[in-house]
Amino acid sequence: MNANEYIESVLATVKKRNPGESEFHQAVEEVLETLKPVLEAHPEYQAAGLIERLVEPERIIKFRVPWVDDSGKVQVNRGYRIQFNNAIGPYKGGLRFRENVTESVIKFLGFEQIFKNSLTSLPIGGGKGGSDFDPKGKSDGEVMRFCQSFMTELSKYIGPDTDVPAGDIGVGAREIGFLYGQYKRLTDTYTGVLTGKGLTYGGSLARKEATGFGVCYFTKEMLKANGKSFDGSTVVVSGSGNVAIYAAFKATEYGAKVVAMSDSNGYIYDANGLDLEAVRVLKEEKRARIKEYVADHPTATYADGCSGIWTVKCDIALPCATQNEIDEDSANKLIANGCCCVCEGANMPSTPGAIAAFQNAGVFFGPAKAANAGGVATSALEMSQNSMRYSWTFEEVDAKLHDIMVNIFKNCEAAAARYGMPGNYAAGANIAGFLKVADAMMAQGVV
Ligand code: NDP
Repeated sequence: MNANEYIESVLATVKKRNPGESEFHQAVEEVLETLKPVLEAHPEYQAAGLIERLVEPERIIKFRVPWVDDSGKVQVNRGYRIQFNNAIGPYKGGLRFRENVTESVIKFLGFEQIFKNSLTSLPIGGGKGGSDFDPKGKSDGEVMRFCQSFMTELSKYIGPDTDVPAGDIGVGAREIGFLYGQYKRLTDTYTGVLTGKGLTYGGSLARKEATGFGVCYFTKEMLKANGKSFDGSTVVVSGSGNVAIYAAFKATEYGAKVVAMSDSNGYIYDANGLDLEAVRVLKEEKRARIKEYVADHPTATYADGCSGIWTVKCDIALPCATQNEIDEDSANKLIANGCCCVCEGANMPSTPGAIAAFQNAGVFFGPAKAANAGGVATSALEMSQNSMRYSWTFEEVDAKLHDIMVNIFKNCEAAAARYGMPGNYAAGANIAGFLKVADAMMAQGVV
């Protein structure tokens, strides 16, 4: 079988074995398509069944999460933890709490996480988890009771040297606190079993900012390599959560003007640039809807619907909300409006059609698994600090994060060029991430 046939046969098996899991199929296909030249150069991977093993999670944990709401009614959600690959370190990846979480979503995220974590150059394997529970609109008490029930089951499978979850959509400082409290109570240990913890109980400075800042560190390098910069540019950032807010702050610090942001209901726009501190307070502190921004910002406008944000004219687009938020149609609108750079803060925010449109139009495209790796990299730095029982300063962590992101860009750029696809950072990220994991798997035998 040549490399092409090998990939097609693995893809066919993935689709047959995981019926209806479209997000997972999409993520696997995107990676495998770019690995063809690597598999041609390394026939030993096929002989070792490496790709078949890579696409099959090592363990899938699925569990009932019963809890009692404020009216005394029993609610039941479903919890997941997918431990995908621990060839280079303990499983590491966030927990997502959102009503649209399914096994397919967690599987795609866990699969992507393997390569992302490898790209950071730190010793962390790939995993992901979550639940179809949405904290939005729930009281603190309800969120706490849900988190305690979720952790009661999850605690059996995780540990500081086994599997270290973190936050993701719907899991921020409040949820991590409740989850950590329950883990500590159940196990009577005080360890770095979760990251994204509060600063008073083992969290790392700069973890909150890390994913968003990292997206901009990566974007800055990508722009620089192509003779451009943030300075004087107009930027659109989708979402207004953890990643979006800190990406927007850093882009502004680099001299850009952020003119639009969104939530799952709609987007705000101000040609003069948004008041980012007001957005932060609204979303991070008040947990309010983004449309409330316009009440005290008269030059801003609000429009319902998520995809309208991609019709806003900009030089740089940073999708930081959710998967498949930019389809081919939205991509073409960005291109027609002169957007020259798209860098993914969210996981898999661009559909395959959108990615092809960007690449065909010569838009510089920073893929999620490289561009948003700053969050998990800083989580790994949090694990190091927990192990040492020591804390670095904000500046120390931020400097390490910056170096890691610059390195990730350089590795993606070099891998793309080495395998005949210069400037294709998406292929470069897949290849660079894959090679380290593949080497480790080859060394460890058939496991
Ligand atoms: P948050 O829950 O903090 O924020 C998510 C934001 O996206 C919210 O503003 C939410 O709006 C908005 N949103 C959700 N769906 C849509 C949609 N269809 N259109 C527009 N906005 C939408 O999550 P994070 O910021 O942590 O995560 C965002 C993305 O970044 C995810 O893809 C995540 O996997 C990825 N990521 C996160 C990392 C991290 O460290 N947190 C690390 C690496 C990747 P609403 O308020 O209405 O819910």
